[in-house]
Amino acid sequence: MYPRLIIDLKKLESNINGVAKITKEQGKMSLMIVTKGLAADKEMTQMVAKHPAVDFMADSRVKNIATYVDGAHANNKMTVLLRIPMHCEIEEVIKNVDLSFNSELSTIKLLNEEAKKQSKTHNVLLMVDMGDLREGIFFQNEEEIFKTVEEILKLENINLYGIGVNLTCYGAIIPKSDNLGGLVEIAGKIEEKFNIKLNMVSGGNSSSIYLVGKGEMPEGITNLRLGESFLLGNDTAYGTKLEGTTDDALILEAQIVELKEKPSLPIGEVGVDAFGEKPYYEDRGVIKRAIIGIGKQDTDLGGMIPLDSDIEILGGSSDHTILDVTKSKNAYRVGDIISFKVEYGAMLKLATSEYVNKVYIR
Ligand SMILES: *Cc1c(COP(=O)(O)O)cnc(C)c1O
Repeated sequence: MYPRLIIDLKKLESNINGVAKITKEQGKMSLMIVTKGLAADKEMTQMVAKHPAVDFMADSRVKNIATYVDGAHANNKMTVLLRIPMHCEIEEVIKNVDLSFNSELSTIKLLNEEAKKQSKTHNVLLMVDMGDLREGIFFQNEEEIFKTVEEILKLENINLYGIGVNLTCYGAIIPKSDNLGGLVEIAGKIEEKFNIKLNMVSGGNSSSIYLVGKGEMPEGITNLRLGESFLLGNDTAYGTKLEGTTDDALILEAQIVELKEKPSLPIGEVGVDAFGEKPYYEDRGVIKRAIIGIGKQDTDLGGMIPLDSDIEILGGSSDHTILDVTKSKNAYRVGDIISFKVEYGAMLKLATSEYVNKVYIR
């Protein structure tokens, strides 16, 4: 059945080898594989759990982690919650997560209470905001950082595992030796001030990996958290392909439901489209238009890259996507399948949609 997402587990496995070569061998850092981009797909997380190069398995949602915590533990991997916990999910966090990212003392105190109840010690990574302005204590407020550390160290069932930063998410700030170096400096000050050793200084996501190749990853960054670079094979700071990875481990296939020659300009008074937006059209005369059975409910139309590079995506609505196939060398017919590579947003929606079938190459 179409639409379907083909997940090539062998290619994903070799992508892990590729990123491990960079982060572990060259960079001497631990490797945290992030599973949220494929909505913690079961087959994928089983492969990740068994992969010897993976040290941690992380996701932003506790519900996803709960599906693979047993497999992770059976393979000696810690589970990690990337999104700062909500107060309503504390019990589930303690149950399923070994290490959670945090920035609010009130939340860490609730984690402590619940960990006590469940007779566990919960690990916490304190997030520091180095300028991207998403989560974390702002780096210029060092007193707040130290005060929070001091309070965390008093909590009996909490272990301060380390500190970390997230970049290139809200503010699109690119990791450099200065902002990551600043994080290492803060880690050093914490270790000195409190006479402790931090297990982890986590230097970001797939936008940080490019620094290793340039030899600019500051010493003292001991971990990277990789989702997109493992799934799609690119660094996300500059979008370059990473050596040893492929960008076609995930392929979307959709079926043509209509193929007709029609004008490129709609006829009549122009209002707004199905999503309340005013469309833009280019007059190309009469073109060959293919409609495929997939739409905005299933994916991001702008994040689909046709393998047939002569195809252009014109637009679509909830359930339909319209392609200009005029220039294609293939003589498409109704019922034919069109294949696409995917970008992050498109992948995320495809993985989440119950209308998209998943098939695996093993
Ligand atoms: C999503 C996320 C990651 C992984 O990001 P990628 O760009 O997919 O590598 C890492 N850290 C945090 C905090 C995240 O939310």
